Amino acid sequence: MANINFDEYKNIWVFVEQRNGKLMNVALELLGEGHKLSRDISDETKVCALLIGDGIENLAQECFEYGADCVYLIEDEKLKQYTTDGYTKVIADAVNEFKPDIFLYGATHIGRDLAPRVAARLKTGLTADCTHLDVSVAEYIKFAEENTTLNTKSLNPEDPNKNLKMTRPAFGGNLMATIVCPNHRPQMATVRPGVMQKMEPVAGATGEIIRIKPEISDADIHIQVVEVVKSAKELVSLTDADIICSAGRGIGDASGFDLMKKFADKVGGVVGSSRACVDAGWIDHSHQVGQTGTTVKPKIYFACGISGAIQHLAGMQNSDIIVAINKDPDSPIFEVADYGIVGDLYKVIPEIMAEWDNAEALYDATTK
Ligand SMILES: Cc1cc2nc3c(=O)[nH]c(=O)nc-3n(C[C@H](O)[C@H](O)[C@H](O)COP(=O)(O)OP(=O)(O)OC[C@H]3O[C@@H](n4cnc5c(N)ncnc54)[C@H](O)[C@@H]3O)c2cc1C
Repeated sequence: MANINFDEYKNIWVFVEQRNGKLMNVALELLGEGHKLSRDISDETKVCALLIGDGIENLAQECFEYGADCVYLIEDEKLKQYTTDGYTKVIADAVNEFKPDIFLYGATHIGRDLAPRVAARLKTGLTADCTHLDVSVAEYIKFAEENTTLNTKSLNPEDPNKNLKMTRPAFGGNLMATIVCPNHRPQMATVRPGVMQKMEPVAGATGEIIRIKPEISDADIHIQVVEVVKSAKELVSLTDADIICSAGRGIGDASGFDLMKKFADKVGGVVGSSRACVDAGWIDHSHQVGQTGTTVKPKIYFACGISGAIQHLAGMQNSDIIVAINKDPDSPIFEVADYGIVGDLYKVIPEIMAEWDNAEALYDATTK
């Protein structure tokens, strides 16, 4: 066991990733989750945002509004563009100085690149791609018994142990694993975007800003960002969508997505997909929902011609309302659906679109 004074490690840190001066959604979700965890640890536990870049102090206000008690601010022109080694250096220095107990990152491309490097530098563990976090043993038992097949028989709900219990899908999503980091600090996790709940923002909330002067030189950064080229393909923002109209292999072929696009346009949603359609080359991977795609939590998720494989469910089962359309009445998707329609999607979707028009006309007539 490492020679660590555990009493020195306090508070929950969130790496609040910003790009071009805009906070990523997942950063705000993690501040909300940090807030929830902090209440299960102690009244003294603070949620701290770690904000890195150049000329980004204005973002501290948004962090406070979404649940941060304090913001550690590291600004330097060398940190304007993300680089793995530059960010790793300043984060490792800050952690060694301030000693957070828990440190959360979004499982974005940057978070997935950065967190393992920081973990290695600090000689601590990292659980990647978490979908659930607990500190209280009682809360963990409740979650595990309701949502997983994990065995909790040996656990005592009265146990005061506050180690972070980090749960993530394992073995291709066929089971859930819970991982702890009892012998090292900080306890680190990356968390999938779209899984945790943002807090309702509190306008005008304030907190402490702690400025850290980074010790960073050109010699610390071994790569140079010459140019940032954005992909020219049409990008879909599944994580922000209120309504997602997803199709699976039951759509038949690529041309079926024309209907899905019309459906999504009609209901004000975006088009999603199962992996089967992506693998078949019918639609781009940016539309894929699931374990190896995007995790989503829209108000309404239409699953059309999707069987409901566990890897697909892993990405959408927390949607507020799930509507499944499938011609097989025994399809597993119906087990998670709030509304199930047994039928051919090519008949059902046009009927829903027509009903949508009727409902809109009725709404217009009654609100005039
Ligand atoms: C490591 C790993 C990661 C994975 N990650 C993902 C992931 O991120 N996302 C994902 O989706 N999958 C993922 N998968 C694949 C997953 O296991 C399934 O193979 C996939 O989700 C199946 O897609 P589907 O439901 O579209 O196809 P199918 O399972 O073939 O289901 C098609 C469904 O359409 C219905 N149907 C057929 N015709 C019609 C019609 N005309 N009208 C209505 N219904 C119709 C059928 O009854 C059937 O239920 C992963 C697998 C592995 C091993």
